[in-house]
Amino acid sequence: MKHIFVTGGVVSSLGKGLAAAALGRLLENRGLKVVMQKFDPYLNVDPGTMSPFQHGEVYVLNDGTETDLDLGHYERFTSGQLTRHNNLTSGQVYLRVIEKERKGDYLGKTVQVVPHVTDEIKARIALVEQEQPDSHVLITEIGGTTGDIEGLPFLEAIRQFILERGPSNAMVMHVTLVPYLKAAGELKTKPSQQSVAKLREIGLQPQVLICRTEEPLNRDVRAKLSTYCNVPQKAVIELRDVESTIYEAPLMLRKECLDDVVCEILRLDDAPPAEMTEWERFVKRVKHPKKAAKIAFVGKYTDLQDAYKSVYESLAHAGASHDCRAEVHRIDAEKLEVDPSAAEELLGDFTGVLVPGGFGERGIEGKVVAARYARENQLPYLGLCLGMQIATIDFARHVCGFERANSTEFDPKTPHPVICLLEGQKNVKGKGASMRLGLSTAVLKEGSLTAQVYGRPEVQERHRHRYEFNMKYREAMEAKGFVISGTSPDGTLVETIELRHHPWFVACQFHPEFLSKPNAPHPLFRGFIGACLAHAS
Ligand code: GLN
Repeated sequence: MKHIFVTGGVVSSLGKGLAAAALGRLLENRGLKVVMQKFDPYLNVDPGTMSPFQHGEVYVLNDGTETDLDLGHYERFTSGQLTRHNNLTSGQVYLRVIEKERKGDYLGKTVQVVPHVTDEIKARIALVEQEQPDSHVLITEIGGTTGDIEGLPFLEAIRQFILERGPSNAMVMHVTLVPYLKAAGELKTKPSQQSVAKLREIGLQPQVLICRTEEPLNRDVRAKLSTYCNVPQKAVIELRDVESTIYEAPLMLRKECLDDVVCEILRLDDAPPAEMTEWERFVKRVKHPKKAAKIAFVGKYTDLQDAYKSVYESLAHAGASHDCRAEVHRIDAEKLEVDPSAAEELLGDFTGVLVPGGFGERGIEGKVVAARYARENQLPYLGLCLGMQIATIDFARHVCGFERANSTEFDPKTPHPVICLLEGQKNVKGKGASMRLGLSTAVLKEGSLTAQVYGRPEVQERHRHRYEFNMKYREAMEAKGFVISGTSPDGTLVETIELRHHPWFVACQFHPEFLSKPNAPHPLFRGFIGACLAHAS
């Protein structure tokens, strides 16, 4: 297997994950089988316990692993299905080394970063190789920025690995920033030079430079980067800020011949040029939509671009499939909470309401106001995970008359716990990986809108939540028009709901946003955008 290590320099948030994923797409379209993984230098075992304010979205895999949002890019851009072995954190590495030390695996030895920690990192690469024996290329992104203390053991492990495998089998692609200084009227290469120098200090020489820039790189700048960073000129690759859609990145990198350069370095000679016609068609639809759907997105972390990454991407995929731009307007749930009478003013202009997932009490009442508004005004509603719990609370309170109905997450003393923990969950104390996580099956009710939207009687979706619909309320709520349209195969857990007297009100306990792909939009998002368009006309 050939290896590409993706590092980042100068600043964080350079879009390393995106560049890595875009390269993955290009190589796949050359007929190569690609696997992707991420190394995260932080000490958390996984990002599941981090706030979205710290870390952005927690992306969940089929096997229930809570991972970095870059794995979302990998799964959306490439066809690979990732597992818990595709995201390694320093926390996991040290945990394993210390467990081994306690067991006596290193008996007699002093346990050190080199070789014990670095060996553990290399062992993970070997494990992925073993698991995917028919893959041609493994792309490994290293989180953080070159120069970070935490990143050093990973870079050292990569140095050793490249030495062991040889330069035509393993390479480094460095993503860097080439800033434009207005006052000087020119692009500056010094930060890139210095970040490459930092890599070389560790013993790593990048073979490819991906240059994030606002302005095109001219000949002189390319020549300078080539000389000072010790990279051939054709391997100085421009990646200009993508204006309208991140899905343009593979096409831009293709134009710069990135995949040719990489295939040459790694001697992947017989891979034909990347066929990008279908991808181009998708990008065209995203860039030139014929219609627009205005969606009110009522969440808590609305200021953060990354907190609901997969949801935004899923809306973009679904929009494109309708030749439509999903125009997402983020509405701060707390505004509706402070003043519920502002609902008409804040939501009246929209063609649909989406309430995404979330945790904790803040903003909850505002979201209930939004769900109620959508229900009473026949506005299409899509509820994701918490969004389903919110819709349940609204219906219980305002249609069934269950006063102060709530989830026990937000009001442990509520007289009507319509959302609660299951008996078996009540003794779980730890917070790490203690939720219902990963893929499970939902059986859909024949004739329901949900089943119709999916076009299938049974689906598998990814979960990440603790609380569940309380089946004690099923009968009373269904009598009033609440429809449980999907359950777990044994019928004990509610997976999807809808409303009988509403054109399009669907909510699910799982996270469909983790299964949407550019050219294969998720049915729930596609259905929602379709309903928004119908509402508008
Ligand atoms: N906080 C809710 C729960 O734990 C919803 C979780 C979510 O939206 N991901 O059940």
